Amino acid sequence: MAATVIDGKAFAGTVREKVAAHVERIKAEAGVTPGLAVVLVGEDPASQVYVRSKGKQTAEAGMNSFEHKLDADTSEADLLAVVDQLNNDPAVHGILVQLPLPDHLDSDLVINSIDPAKDVDGFHISNVGLLGTGQKSMVPCTPLGCLMMLRDHHGSLSGMNAVVIGRSNIVGKPMAQLLLNDSCTVTIAHSRTADLPGVVRQADIVVAAVGRPEMVPGDWIKPGATVIDVGINRLDAPEKGEGKTRLVGDVDYDSCAAVAGAITPVPGGVGPMTIACLLANTVTACCRANGLEEPEGLTA
Ligand code: NDP
Repeated sequence: MAATVIDGKAFAGTVREKVAAHVERIKAEAGVTPGLAVVLVGEDPASQVYVRSKGKQTAEAGMNSFEHKLDADTSEADLLAVVDQLNNDPAVHGILVQLPLPDHLDSDLVINSIDPAKDVDGFHISNVGLLGTGQKSMVPCTPLGCLMMLRDHHGSLSGMNAVVIGRSNIVGKPMAQLLLNDSCTVTIAHSRTADLPGVVRQADIVVAAVGRPEMVPGDWIKPGATVIDVGINRLDAPEKGEGKTRLVGDVDYDSCAAVAGAITPVPGGVGPMTIACLLANTVTACCRANGLEEPEGLTA
């Protein structure tokens, strides 16, 4: 039987609607408007696209959007001063410093200078620790989006075998932690994993976050398993015209969809959920800062 396609684009639309409804409610009831500040250093084209899209969707959800664009040669001291100013601005509830930063800037230092309560990317060491100990935290957006889709599809994840391929700090590790917190039995695989196909074949849930185009073939997938493809890889597509490209994930979609019970496509799967979860984290941060009721179903 063909796999159910988990439509991340539609699901992200539902999340954005829930965010917008909650924003409207807290504006009316408490007179508070959530605000998200995005800091972009330099002119990386992909980052510029992300930042534009984040600003647009923030405004569409009824929130305030603040953009700080800094020159590529901005000093660390100047960047830290901007973060400090945002930490102290009561109109700003979420701060996102767009990564990657130029090489002369220490990303860990900058991220850890953000007020953890405003760290809507969930990368601050305090939030990593809170998540790791099962406490209330700000949760990284991409894994949060994956978790929401899995919960929506399965209901409870308790007792399921999950394999996360990739151990990055921004996707693999927090994803594994979230699945563990939802009582999955979790294996984290990486480039040194022995018998990766055999490990993946044990999984009821496979999350691929590797950065290698179409690396996971269908014959690694246990029949009926749920496959969440985090990968975003751009390949040349001469069949679409000269200089054209196409996006593919980290799993070979056609062969995996033939075996899996459910699968996320690329594009249109995990990608749209990431910004939706950023908006969700911003409204959550705003509610926590003001002692207001948090939106339901938008946090881990
Ligand atoms: P990283 O490069 O930081 O991490 C990749 C991980 O994959 C590493 O842990 C690495 O292992 C592992 N890996 C690499 N090669 C293999 C292999 N042959 N077998 C098994 N494991 C392997 O990537 P990210 O986590 O940042 O991103 C992963 C993917 O997700 C990328 O395609 C990225 O574009 C995408 N992404 C998508 C987002 C979205 O919004 N949808 C957001 C963020 C990322 P090791 O540690 O041993 O080197």
